[in-house]
Amino acid sequence: MIDIKGITKSFGSLQVLKGIDLHIDKGEVVSIVGPSGAGKTTLLQIIGTLDKPDSGDIIIDGTDVRKLGAKKLSEFRNRRIGFVFQFHQLLPEFTAVENVMLPAFIAGMSKSEAKKRAMELLDFMGLSDRADHKPNELSGGEKQRVAVARALVNRPAVILADEPSGSLDSKNKDELHRLFFDLRDRTGQTFVIVTHDESLAKITDRTIEMKDGMLEMEDELSLNTSS
Ligand code: ADP
Repeated sequence: MIDIKGITKSFGSLQVLKGIDLHIDKGEVVSIVGPSGAGKTTLLQIIGTLDKPDSGDIIIDGTDVRKLGAKKLSEFRNRRIGFVFQFHQLLPEFTAVENVMLPAFIAGMSKSEAKKRAMELLDFMGLSDRADHKPNELSGGEKQRVAVARALVNRPAVILADEPSGSLDSKNKDELHRLFFDLRDRTGQTFVIVTHDESLAKITDRTIEMKDGMLEMEDELSLNTSS
């Protein structure tokens, strides 16, 4: 689902990614951990096509994204990739259901179809009775679930999350993590999650550790040390 090779990225004289190779299968839930400044967010932004590498190849869901022009790339991103951030970035003037509908609407779906799909997702998240509330009338956990619903509305192949549970208490955190796995089991979607949260990293299929712009595969490391 995600195949990247030899990705490098510098900001000015600072090389933030130093040749990243990574292969993630369809339906995998992968966590990326590592110290602050290691390059995790930059890597996620590049996988999400929000930023471009200086060199290297990126294939996502069979598409060589470096070959897409600006318009096609933005269409690809809107349809195939869902983003979940720590601070949910819901639009305050819109209701929960309107926030969830928006990416579907942008992708060209009719308003009624988009609304139907948004309501199904809110229902799945246990939020159908919150659909007509604006973000400032929702709790932190509810807002984060609305943000997840919005990330899912176009049925993206890949969901990228940056510290998705960072602003949640432990009960809401557990619920959000369960939701990711439920979704993967139901839809076969692929999740890449940058997190400091050890309880989340522990339950993902694979944890990738980043240090100083490079990757270390934790599973492989633990195999090496036990052999
Ligand atoms: P992490 O997510 O692991 O904390 P980041 O990818 O956010 O790491 O950042 C890696 C390094 O790149 C940091 O030193 C950060 O200051 C720098 N950096 C990130 N984005 C930019 C940018 N747009 N311009 C300049 N420096 C940046």
